[in-house]
Order: sequence, then C-alpha cells, then structure tokens
Amino acid sequence: MSNKMMFSSLVENSLNFLNKAITEIKDQPFFSLIHFYTGLELLLKARLMNEHWSLIISRKSVPDLQKFTNGDFQSINLDEILEALDKTLGIKVAKTHADAFHLVRKHRNRIVHFFHGAQAQKTKPEQIVQEQLVAWHFLHQMITVQWPQVFKPWAKELLDIDKGLRKYHTYLRIIFDQKAATFRQLKAQGFKIESCPSCNFKSLVCSKNMDFLYQAKCEVCNLSAPRINISCPHCAKIFTYEGDATTNCKHCKRRIFIKDIENILLDHGELHIRAMEGDFSDPEASCVECDGFHTVINTKHNQILCMACLSDFPEIYLCEWCGEGNTKILENSYYEGCSHCNGASDWRRED
Ligand SMILES: [Zn+2]
Ligand SMILES: [Zn+2]
Ligand SMILES: [Zn+2]
Ligand SMILES: [Zn+2]
Repeated sequence: MSNKMMFSSLVENSLNFLNKAITEIKDQPFFSLIHFYTGLELLLKARLMNEHWSLIISRKSVPDLQKFTNGDFQSINLDEILEALDKTLGIKVAKTHADAFHLVRKHRNRIVHFFHGAQAQKTKPEQIVQEQLVAWHFLHQMITVQWPQVFKPWAKELLDIDKGLRKYHTYLRIIFDQKAATFRQLKAQGFKIESCPSCNFKSLVCSKNMDFLYQAKCEVCNLSAPRINISCPHCAKIFTYEGDATTNCKHCKRRIFIKDIENILLDHGELHIRAMEGDFSDPEASCVECDGFHTVINTKHNQILCMACLSDFPEIYLCEWCGEGNTKILENSYYEGCSHCNGASDWRRED
C-alpha cells in the first residue's frame, strides 16, 4: 500500500469515529467522548502521515513497513504527536489548542480506566459537548485554515461533522441560562459580552481596554482566545485583533495589516528618544511560537507580543553573534548562533 493510500484510509477511519461520536452524544455521552478523542488523534496522525508513515510510529521501535501495514506497531501518543508536528513538520500547535485536546484526552482516560456505571452516569452530556466543541473548534480551524490542501478531498465530510457537532449547541443552553446573573455582574464590572466563535452564545467575556493583550473567555464552552482591541486606523471604530496576518475591519471592511497594528501598539515616544540617543537598532524580534520573522514587539504597555500569533513573552534575548532578537533564552549564542545564524563556530569552519 502506498503512503497516499494509507493516509486516505487513516483520514476515512478518523471521520468514521467522529461521525460515530456525533450519533452518541445524546444517549451515550461517555462513548461519544471516547470515539471523539480517537477521531481527533487519528486526524492529527493523518497530518503526520501525509508526510511519511514512519512519523506515527513510537520512537521506541524501529519503523518496519511490513509490520506497519499489518497494523502491528506501537503508535505515538498526543504529546508525541504535537512534538512531531513541531519538530519534524515545523507546525506549532497553539497552547490553547493543545490544552483543549489534552482535556478531552484526560477525560477519556478517566472513563476508560475507571469504567463503571456510576462513573459513566456522572458525566453530564453538556460537559461532554462543551469539551468536544472547543477541541473540535480548534481542530477544525487547523484543518481548514492551516492545512486546507492536505484534507481537501474530505472538505464536504469535514463540513458535515462541523455542522453535526454544532447542532448540539442547544445542550449548552442549560449552562448559558444558569449564568444570567454572572453576565450581569461582569457587565457591571465593565466587561463586554460578545458572541463566542465556538458555541455561538453571547457569552464571550471581553475586556474593554485598548491596545492591550487579554484572553477573551467564554463562560459557556470555556473557549479562551487572545485578543487586542485597537482603534481601526481607517474608521477609528473599535476593531478586535485576533492575530491573523491580515484582517478586515468589521465596521469599514477595509484591510488592516500587521504593520498597521504594530504602528498603533509601538511606543513612538520611546523609539524617538532611543533614536535621539543614536540607537537605531530594530526593536523587533522573531517568534519562537509561530516562527514569525520580526513579528515580536515591545508595546507601549510593556507587553512583549508576537503580532502574528498573539503569544506574549517575558523578554527579548539578543543573539551574541548576529544581534537578532529572539524570544527564547539562547545558550552560548556567540558560538552556536540563533534561529538566524550559526554563530562563530560555523564562520570559523568556513575559514
Ligand atoms: Zn463559547
Ligand atoms: Zn474600520
Ligand atoms: Zn508568533
Ligand atoms: Zn544569531
């Protein structure tokens, strides 16, 4: 069997599990969670397998194609999948996404390992729907936004699964109704309540602060997403930046680029003072989370932020060899370099 055929079978298998999970939510929520998790893990493995089949085999054994095609192999777990996506394919899975996947995995492990009637009955359908919807929201985003080409042949099936899962939003109404008093309190405290992109309820708690990174959090489905409110450079109305390369203002529909946002968030006074002192160095660093080049800035509110992925960092570290800014601590950078250079050791070798 070719790698392509094996990849297709893996995707089909994963879609079967996800579809099964949808049919079980109502009457057998705990089975639904088990099947949903299996489907999720298989889809992530499929992404690895699209590169090469050996990537989904446990590092403890030597990849053996014969055994692999017979299904006689130890597969990698979620931590290893995320690591392989990062290290081998250079795909960083955002922390919010990874946390949502781990939450489903832990819940599934509790059900599988301590399985008995009482335990199963304690799991309320709305809790299962909540965890599945958030994990699916992120997984679906990765598949459709980051990897549209890889899963293109299954676009229709994936859309059906998306619709199928979202149908169960009604289950979350119980949580939404229970929180009426909480929403009133939050509004009185100055928060803004918006529609949640995952569960669609008006339950996403947002800050009204301007030019400041915060985590918007949904009181119904627990979705958590980084955001910055800025004043649109074209129409001056409040625009919520969620970390895309380019986005359109929802009021005036005009395009807003990363550079526009940077311009708003940078402390121009400080840059001016530095320039007066003869320091014209580039204040931007590269991002270790999304590999963005010069996307990290120090804002006027002293937040060190990547404009592309909205990760925040404690500090910018400079490479001792090339002087580039980095968001992770560099050990021995004079000799070993950074993500931009190979340091002095390489230079001497060429000598
Ligand atoms: Zn929500
Ligand atoms: Zn605008
Ligand atoms: Zn980034
Ligand atoms: Zn360097």
